[in-house]
Amino acid sequence: MRDERIAYFSMEIGLEAGIPTYSGGLGVLAGDTLKSAADLCLPVVGVTLLCRSGYFRQELTPEGRQIEHEVEWNPSDVMERLPNRVTVEVEGRDVTVGVWRHGVKSLTGGEVPVYFLDTDVEGNSPGDREITARLYGGDDAYRLSQEIVLGVGGVRMLRALEIPVYKYHLNEGHSALLTLELLRWFRRDLKEVWDERLVWDYEAVRERCIFTTHTPVEAGHDKFSYELASRILGEPVPLEVIRDIAGSDHLNMTLLALNLSNYVNGVAKKHGEVSRQMFRGYRIHSITNGVHSYTWTAAPMKKLFDRYLPGWADEPELFVRVDSVPDGEIWEAHLESKRKLVRFVAEKTGENFSDELLTIGFARRSTSYKRADLLFEDVERLAGIAGGRLQVVYAGKAHPRDEPGKALIEKIFRLRKDLAGKVKVVYLADYDMDAALTLVSGVDLWLNTPLRPMEASGTSGMKAVHNGVPNFSVLDGWWIEGHIEGVTGWSIGPQPDEDGPGDYNGSSDSADLYDKLERIIMPLFYHDREGWIRVMKNAIGKNAYYFNSHRMMRRYVTNAYIRTHHHPIPGGE
Ligand SMILES: *Cc1c(COP(=O)(O)O)cnc(C)c1O
Repeated sequence: MRDERIAYFSMEIGLEAGIPTYSGGLGVLAGDTLKSAADLCLPVVGVTLLCRSGYFRQELTPEGRQIEHEVEWNPSDVMERLPNRVTVEVEGRDVTVGVWRHGVKSLTGGEVPVYFLDTDVEGNSPGDREITARLYGGDDAYRLSQEIVLGVGGVRMLRALEIPVYKYHLNEGHSALLTLELLRWFRRDLKEVWDERLVWDYEAVRERCIFTTHTPVEAGHDKFSYELASRILGEPVPLEVIRDIAGSDHLNMTLLALNLSNYVNGVAKKHGEVSRQMFRGYRIHSITNGVHSYTWTAAPMKKLFDRYLPGWADEPELFVRVDSVPDGEIWEAHLESKRKLVRFVAEKTGENFSDELLTIGFARRSTSYKRADLLFEDVERLAGIAGGRLQVVYAGKAHPRDEPGKALIEKIFRLRKDLAGKVKVVYLADYDMDAALTLVSGVDLWLNTPLRPMEASGTSGMKAVHNGVPNFSVLDGWWIEGHIEGVTGWSIGPQPDEDGPGDYNGSSDSADLYDKLERIIMPLFYHDREGWIRVMKNAIGKNAYYFNSHRMMRRYVTNAYIRTHHHPIPGGE
């Protein structure tokens, strides 16, 4: 494997706000993965779509209605167009795929190239030029066309670029069609076969594929009708073979990836468990997500870490020594980030926030299961608890077709008015990676209220802890592993083992949220600053220490990329 690479395929990759080819956590995780790979000098390349029109830019009306605008960006500002071209077949037409290269460069000298596939090239029809234009835009036919470009086009492009591939890492099922291309590639040349299927060497493909699943929500798994599939995709391998490995009723991208990968993992321990229940009969491991420490630590805290924990960015394990940083300096660094947030809020909304009031942050994609409105379930109660000493910052885009997600934003705008004069609430438009860093570092407490077990991992809370901002969260995803009550932060609702099917519907979560806010969190923040800073330090020393993408990448290397999988590991996941 001397020159061979791990090819990391992801529908979205979020490297920086200026490359708007991501929609949320999945893409940012992919970006953090590649940054850590570069820091660790791992032989990795990334493959994704160019998304010339980005995801979208979000405008919010005074009523909180979301208006979507195309993003204007110029790929040539941040990447280089290469001359290479490959062809894929979409709906019986030959579609030409071009490519751009962006190097993710590390201060360590490592570099990971990312290849952005682009069908907006000469020779393609106007319709085909649009295939890679919009992230998660369009209908099923559009989505499947994109997945052909990503999976099939990606494999062909790497071959055209003469990049030998040791393993294909499928970040979510969107790129699973690459397995069909590999099947064709490894086709056995048999002279006489009594069963046509024997020429398809599943094992050869499996040995090269790693699949990371990211959602415990059924609707999150791509499925296409075979009617659509035969029209758009055709039969790269015979339909009966596809039905064998991708499902008899639908072309199910998750099943396809599961069947043709020999290492499969969920993104937190709980998510691994849930996935094993969803997909019985498959060996599903778990590697808990992490975030890129250097990217997600704001400047004031970086300066402090540089002084007291030199080398922290390449070795986040050094956070274990966070107690060597004086309390007063941690607080000052935090205040500096908080003042930046106060300025940011004023710029974007004209509202005056104070740097002295307890400030809660909630920002992520707006979609039902994340329950952005849980904090407001009883506005009277919340106003009573707050007593004028609470501020809340919201942000997040809803997918253009997620009506309930959009309605949630409007609901927060309405409740915000009900709370006027009692709790200051703002909703910031157009959440992106830059806004994310300002928010996770500038608030005092990071709130997360998913309806469990729907949050596979969650990563924004990991960004918060890198800035000494503790989490107040439902016990789901990563927080089950990171939470020590009152030490690293606080939980909301029942313990993770208390939710047998049927006896948990999340309805008691808000009561617990209010109770803890009133009895524990507000008093600690306002009357025991030393105790509060202890929790901040634990967030760094016990959470950031572990939930970083360097640790995660080392796990992928030892557990997925280079481990042999012929024998189950006793006691292993
Ligand atoms: C980190 C991040 C997310 C993920 O947030 P979760 O709370 O994990 O869902 C979403 N959007 C942006 C812009 C981010 O930076």
